Amino acid sequence: MNIIFLGPPGAGKGTHAQRLMQELSIPQISTGEILRAAIREGTPTGLKAKACIEKGELVPDAVVIDIVKERLQQADCANGYILDGFPRTVAQAEALGTFAKIDAVVNFILSDDAIIRRLSGRRVCPKCGNTTHISALNGSTVCPVCGEELVQRKDDLPETVENRLKVYAEQTAPLISYYQARGLVRDIVCDGHIVDENHALVRQSLGLED
Ligand code: AMP
Repeated sequence: MNIIFLGPPGAGKGTHAQRLMQELSIPQISTGEILRAAIREGTPTGLKAKACIEKGELVPDAVVIDIVKERLQQADCANGYILDGFPRTVAQAEALGTFAKIDAVVNFILSDDAIIRRLSGRRVCPKCGNTTHISALNGSTVCPVCGEELVQRKDDLPETVENRLKVYAEQTAPLISYYQARGLVRDIVCDGHIVDENHALVRQSLGLED
């Protein structure tokens, strides 16, 4: 199954994509992760993306379209994949339609209040990539998986979050009607903070057994 996870930042797309990837044995393709890795490695793509990401703006369509087009040609995508954070503009969706056939679009719905709460408390591990929320850390500042000191993503700082929400509303939310018109959208309301419950909603939306 070729799946798109669509939703605002902080909706839990990455968390659920990682779980579903293991459950279905199909890869999670996160353009945000690919771009952050490119920045860490100092590649030309990383250099192009850095300023946009830090301001909460979108990286140019051509850059991310090329990344995804190339990634989908790899052998591990043959039995399906989860696109996490792509497409984010109608131009990206149109380009995707020329080289991929999408089966379902899971639309994560949650309030701005919940988004801000989640992003402001989100911490990531620079070593193993695990994402966690401060409410689950009981005051600890280290990664519960590998013990590394956790960090806050620069684009999770309040001034950037505001811009990311604006960018989502203006440039990405129009994709909901774009894919509704193609009969692909499965809405899930995931304001609750219990990951297992939200994950059950994701699975149900895709017609998967519990
Ligand atoms: P994410 O990890 O999905 O929240 O993405 C982090 C940042 O990477 C976004 O705020 C954008 O700056 C950039 N980014 C990720 N995916 C895309 C995309 N499909 N189009 C443009 N920019 C993207």
